[in-house]
Amino acid sequence: DVEVAIKVVVVGNGAVGKSSMIQRYCKGIFTRDYKKTIGVDFLERQISVRGEDVRLMLWDTAGQEEFDAITKAYYRGAQACAIVFSTVDRDSFEAVEKWRTKVEDECGNIPMVLVQNKIDLIDQALVKVEEADELAKRLRLKFYRASVKEDLNVNDVFMYLTEKYLEI
Ligand code: GDP
Ligand code: MG
Repeated sequence: DVEVAIKVVVVGNGAVGKSSMIQRYCKGIFTRDYKKTIGVDFLERQISVRGEDVRLMLWDTAGQEEFDAITKAYYRGAQACAIVFSTVDRDSFEAVEKWRTKVEDECGNIPMVLVQNKIDLIDQALVKVEEADELAKRLRLKFYRASVKEDLNVNDVFMYLTEKYLEI
């Protein structure tokens, strides 16, 4: 039986791969054209972390990433957060700090992680390696480079948030 349930919000500009990440983590699949209006608020996955059964509920934005379009209900009660930007979308990188401030305003000081997705497209990168490292350092965020497509580091992101939340 599950004792701990954690609401995780996944934020970031449109098309960085948030829905794909949630789908990858919870269903184990990747599709090129994931339907934005999946019609559910969240997908969930149960994991066991050092003997502790945890239910992660990953909340999707349903394509409303226009900054102020995301409702209060989306953030309400969130206990952890992943901020995602894309290797090939400069604007999404520059929006990271704004997203962090937004989440802090809505949720307070919850465990957060920064994710650079689409690292499989590194040859076309619009964000320099040092720039990303620098931002993570300045914002004091644990930082992962990931590829939802190649299933690289996706599990690690949510494991980190879980451990951080459980303080283990
Ligand atoms: P969202 O708007 O942030 O939810 O982004 P989506 O999950 O809808 O993804 C936007 C597009 O990026 C889709 O075509 C995905 O297939 C694609 N995508 C997501 N993750 C990756 C990745 O790691 N690598 C590549 N090359 N494409 C990805
Ligand atoms: Mg989406």
